[in-house]
Amino acid sequence: MENSEMSLLSVIVPCWNEEEAIPFFYEEFSRVRKLFGERFPNISFELLFVDDGSSDQSLKKIKELKEKDSAVRYVTFSRNFGKDAALFAGLDNAKGDYVVCMDADLQDPPSLLPEMFEAVYSGGYDSAATRRVTRKGEPPVRSFFARLFYKLMNHISTTEIVDGARDYRIMTRQMVDAILSMKEYNRFTKGIYGWIGFKTKWIEFENVERVAGETKWSFWKLFRYAMEGIVDFSTVPLTLILWIGGVFSLLSGISLIACLVLYVREVLNSVPLILSAIAFSFGLQLFFLGIVAHYLANTYMEAKGRPLYIAKEIT
Ligand code: UDP
Ligand code: MG
Repeated sequence: MENSEMSLLSVIVPCWNEEEAIPFFYEEFSRVRKLFGERFPNISFELLFVDDGSSDQSLKKIKELKEKDSAVRYVTFSRNFGKDAALFAGLDNAKGDYVVCMDADLQDPPSLLPEMFEAVYSGGYDSAATRRVTRKGEPPVRSFFARLFYKLMNHISTTEIVDGARDYRIMTRQMVDAILSMKEYNRFTKGIYGWIGFKTKWIEFENVERVAGETKWSFWKLFRYAMEGIVDFSTVPLTLILWIGGVFSLLSGISLIACLVLYVREVLNSVPLILSAIAFSFGLQLFFLGIVAHYLANTYMEAKGRPLYIAKEIT
């Protein structure tokens, strides 16, 4: 990227019932934009709000901002589609050479933006992402399960998903286009970032509490989201059936032969023999179900229609 040319930086902000947070966000954003002007005079901004079907005054607040600031744009949804859909819509509609996603509640501190931008602008990175190293202010049960999820996920999936990673991330246009080429319906954005690759600089920060309003995530909503993440980026649960079925068949098969021998020699009566036969047929069923699951897993991955490769440079 030629550094003397004008470049556009798109800031995507998903909002769902954030009427209280939006004014604080805009104030902080404006402050950072001013700092940017001094440090990177060739950068102009686009502030793209994605109103994810808010039922409060969020859209009105956004429209008011648009009135007085020509950098403001918005996309508004017909209903609540969830944060991942909002992020996709933002990336899809952003015009910037660089794109950053950040939450409306200031939990993704805009003050980190200059450092993040530096990494992609002149630091040779494709992306700069943030990760919170503490979970201060979060219920302990939530933190415990979150940690557990990341451990499990990184065991059973080949896609790296970083513990504590936020969706707060700046990307080059090339990386944004790579994300947009992933058309899958069930979107686990954190997994998609990992899947597409590219060189990412990680910036760490301490957890910040929400400026106003309340979190949109209940424990169960997060739990379902975690399950979604596992199912989207791993077929290990399906493959597990094959293994369990195989082991079960083998053990019950051995038991069946042993019981048969002992029955013929009149050491045992027919009860253990019948039980072993039932266990063996159960194991076989599970094993064949596992084979079907394997085909299902492949069909499932095909159905996602992910690109076969993502090139970074072609000459
Ligand atoms: N959000 C959204 N749609 C949703 C849920 C959340 O657009 O269905 C937005 C929300 O307005 C906020 C960001 O996603 O800007 C993060 O949400 P929240 O702060 O509630 O999550 P937390 O920080 O507690 O994980
Ligand atoms: Mg938040």
